[in-house]
Amino acid sequence: MHPHMTRAWVEIDLGALRRNAAAMAARGAALLPMVKADAYGLGAVAVARALDALAPWGFGVATIAEGIELRESGIERPIIVFTPVHRSHLRALCNARLTPALGAASDITEWSEITTAPWHLAIDTGMSRAGVRWDHVHTLRDAIRANPPQGAFTHFHSAELDDGSREEQERRFRDAVAQLPVRPPLLHAENSAALARTHRSSWDIARPGIFLYGVGSGERALVHPEPVVRLRAPIVDIRTTLPGESVSYDATYRVSAQRRIATLAIGYADGYRRSLSNRGVALLHGQRVPVAGLVTMDMTMIDVTGVPCDVGDIVTLIGRDGSELLDVETVARLADLSPYELLTGLRPRLERHYRDEP
Ligand SMILES: *Cc1c(COP(=O)(O)O)cnc(C)c1O
Repeated sequence: MHPHMTRAWVEIDLGALRRNAAAMAARGAALLPMVKADAYGLGAVAVARALDALAPWGFGVATIAEGIELRESGIERPIIVFTPVHRSHLRALCNARLTPALGAASDITEWSEITTAPWHLAIDTGMSRAGVRWDHVHTLRDAIRANPPQGAFTHFHSAELDDGSREEQERRFRDAVAQLPVRPPLLHAENSAALARTHRSSWDIARPGIFLYGVGSGERALVHPEPVVRLRAPIVDIRTTLPGESVSYDATYRVSAQRRIATLAIGYADGYRRSLSNRGVALLHGQRVPVAGLVTMDMTMIDVTGVPCDVGDIVTLIGRDGSELLDVETVARLADLSPYELLTGLRPRLERHYRDEP
């Protein structure tokens, strides 16, 4: 019997994760892997520990709690918190030995009163999300002169589009940096898509996320990642349905001939999204089979007519099975989601199993 056969689980290939990170590091910048949102659902502590072997410069998170989790797991490298935190939380951020991304004079002054620890300057060059506008950087000069940042960064809004916006944002970033009293030692801008389209990084650090986790950035990219994630579920029941019968809620899957239907121990409460109802595909013994009817909270049915199988057999819902690959992008497209949403939507009820080479 398979050791994990009672319910679905996620397999994470740490070797592939490290090889993807090495492909990003080969672009020439020091690595700041983004491990926010529990490393896009893969498990921040396991991912950060695995990537520590590549000696990254540091790690990127979104919240103070995510930073504390890494600190408590023994990660000693710099950890930058990229989502703005309210001024009243800067002391907690400092106490956890985290590095803030700041973009307002009052926040910079507050941080300087709390500590001499490093901070990074967030510059908005077109994302309109966080940081000081590139054309307002001069308003921070006094605060910056009093306590210069260790780094300055911006974030591309459309790096995967090749529409010239990235070049425009880089121009604005250079202009903004030129207005600072001193050049911060560490400049950074690239996310996965920007880095995957660059032979040689122009910056000191790079901030890849999704590429590390096995999702590429299109045909135009110069490098493509290896798959990292497999979502697998056991068959827990099999039945034959007769002509005129239906499968699952609302009877949307009606059979006109005798069909063999297998039930998987995974549902939307695990993150196998309801939008995959009657649209998803699964790999069973290397063959593609369709999702039959609506995905339910805890179970999903597939039509396995013509594919010999038994209760206890393992089905792959994301990832490789034999010569077939269902990559994250394909499943996300079928589910009408971005690959980011699909990965971060894999719920805690799915156990994470890490595979690593000896
Ligand atoms: C999430 C994030 C990244 C990584 O983006 P990917 O598209 O996953 O590579 C980089 N920088 C910042 C500021 C981010 O928030």
